[in-house]
Amino acid sequence: MELVEKTDALPVTEGGAQHWLDRHGAAVMGNYGVPQRVLVRGEGPWVWDADGVRYLDLLAGIAVNVLGHAHPLLTAAVTSQLATLGHVSNFFATAPNIALAEKLLQISDAPQGSRVFFCNSGAEANEAAFKMARRTGRTKVVAAVHGFHGRTMGALALTHKPQYRLPFEPLPGGVEHVPFGDAGALGRAVEGATAAVVLEPVQGEGGVRPAPPGYLQAAREITRRHGALLVLDEVQTGIGRCGAWFAHQRPEHADADGRAVRPDVITLAKGLGGGIPVGAAIALGEHSAALLGAGQHGTTFGGNPIASAAGLATLHAIERDGLLAHVERVSTRLVEGIRALRHPEVAEVRGVGLLLAIGLVRPMAPAAVAAGLQRGFITNAVAPDALRLAPPLILTEEQADLFVAALPAILDDAAATHTKGS
Ligand SMILES: *Cc1c(COP(=O)(O)O)cnc(C)c1O
Repeated sequence: MELVEKTDALPVTEGGAQHWLDRHGAAVMGNYGVPQRVLVRGEGPWVWDADGVRYLDLLAGIAVNVLGHAHPLLTAAVTSQLATLGHVSNFFATAPNIALAEKLLQISDAPQGSRVFFCNSGAEANEAAFKMARRTGRTKVVAAVHGFHGRTMGALALTHKPQYRLPFEPLPGGVEHVPFGDAGALGRAVEGATAAVVLEPVQGEGGVRPAPPGYLQAAREITRRHGALLVLDEVQTGIGRCGAWFAHQRPEHADADGRAVRPDVITLAKGLGGGIPVGAAIALGEHSAALLGAGQHGTTFGGNPIASAAGLATLHAIERDGLLAHVERVSTRLVEGIRALRHPEVAEVRGVGLLLAIGLVRPMAPAAVAAGLQRGFITNAVAPDALRLAPPLILTEEQADLFVAALPAILDDAAATHTKGS
């Protein structure tokens, strides 16, 4: 049998962008606003739109496509798993799922007794962590100002942004937000009734703000003292994005003896499946691993063989191709290249690995995104005054240079639109 059959179930993508945008507006819910482009195809770090225009994808589906588009290894793993066994439910075990759990325990340096729960998204991974926290018998949770943990009701309760939360209150209670990076404030908020502290090692949606050195260690020390869980949300920062398997493993978060900070729970999604939806909550140590007993949590698709095969292929490619070290090189190239431009609209370049933001002098990031698209680059306005770059980890230094070379013109275009508009 042919592995790939011709199908008439999929629409032909002819007709041009406007045709598809009209149909989109009349059929797809408006919760994401108007799409910037209609995309039809991708290869490596490149994508093409419905009008045939090519873009260098420096956002990677919001820090998801770590291997870029149409990676041969991921494509082969997913198609061959689907052709073998696609979905079985959690009444049954499958080899790809078991192997992915083992691999995640290995790269997270998990102690004996650790276990992995699988789901399909970041919000769901954090819901699982939230339920683990409740199973401690305590109800109070401390999270951070500008923290983002997803849009379902529980994950939303952990998320800080008032515009996201207020229309949906009441949310699950007991969550307090403290200033990010302030160990003193964290120490004052955590007490004997605190079930968990939930933090991102780099606040992604909050504007690409790395935790200061020592902060995660302080959070570990504070939570240990009060018997609370330390949950690190690595949905955006994990799976190599920050030049280590997990951002909390970076040297600036190690203790005085060089030992990495050890959380109780790590939540993952985004990059884990290389573009296929996979989420996970790694419970480190016997105590955390036992919080959710048989029947206390679940999801139909969680850990299905296709998603698991995608996760295995993604982790394998990162290892085989030395992408963790590669991320550091490309990051340095981008950061130093942008700084060397000394462009008057750039206030700073911040971030870790390939999770970067170009801080702008003025709130013109949306105009810079539009100008970037006009010149063939996909970026993201993570804040009104910050342009986020979260490219595929396979981006080469030469491809990074293409963006650095185009950036002055992009910023000049954006400044012109911004001035005209204000
Ligand atoms: C994206 C993100 C989430 C939510 O993930 P979804 O897959 O969109 O539900 C949670 N936490 C962080 C840190 C994220 O960046």
